[in-house]
Amino acid sequence: MNEIVMRTVSRRLERCAENLRKNNIDAYIAENCAEAVSIVEGLMKDGDTISCGGSVSLAESGVLALMQSGRYNFLDRSKAADREAVEQIYRDTFSADVFLTSSNAVTENGELYNVDGNSNRVAAICYGPKSVIFVVGYNKVVRDLDEAIRRVKCKAAPPNADRLSCDTYCAKTGECVSVAKGGDMAAGCSSEGRICCNYVVSAQQRIKGRMKVILVKEELGF
Ligand code: SF4
Repeated sequence: MNEIVMRTVSRRLERCAENLRKNNIDAYIAENCAEAVSIVEGLMKDGDTISCGGSVSLAESGVLALMQSGRYNFLDRSKAADREAVEQIYRDTFSADVFLTSSNAVTENGELYNVDGNSNRVAAICYGPKSVIFVVGYNKVVRDLDEAIRRVKCKAAPPNADRLSCDTYCAKTGECVSVAKGGDMAAGCSSEGRICCNYVVSAQQRIKGRMKVILVKEELGF
């Protein structure tokens, strides 16, 4: 990345991290993916029961490889024999030591914004696992919740719907059907494959440090 752009990104991430901490969310800034993996490693103990939401960022950053290293009791739904076993992993995740995920957006005000279809991911973010670690590329940092809402409709949901082979308007056109009508947060398509069902804003937390956000100075996910 251009040096001047990097300085601007760094200032933005510092502001975001400071406001996350004010909300009782631990925040770290990683220079690159390798540093992010090292921070995650320091936040987990060998033998911990860990789980994750579906995330391109975890795979791209190398965090998923750490999860699969054999050092942890990874509740890995990709190894589940059938849908029933997947559902059991979702329920077992509530008593996991650590849940790992990315965030659809993080505001400079220190809020996390996540939209989910199946909603096992937002459920575990809100309650259950003792620790929740977010790995977030700088590309997901936005000014405020309005920008976060728009980011999901225009940047996150369309490729995610495509990745998950969901037959939705956004997967075909590249943006949510609601954008042309003003883009109210919960407005959207009527597809059976809709991936936007629950909209969760995580603001100030009661349990200090349960949530940890690693802001990475590299582009990750979408
Ligand atoms: S509501 Fe439907 S069209 Fe809009 S972003 Fe979500 S899945 Fe795509």
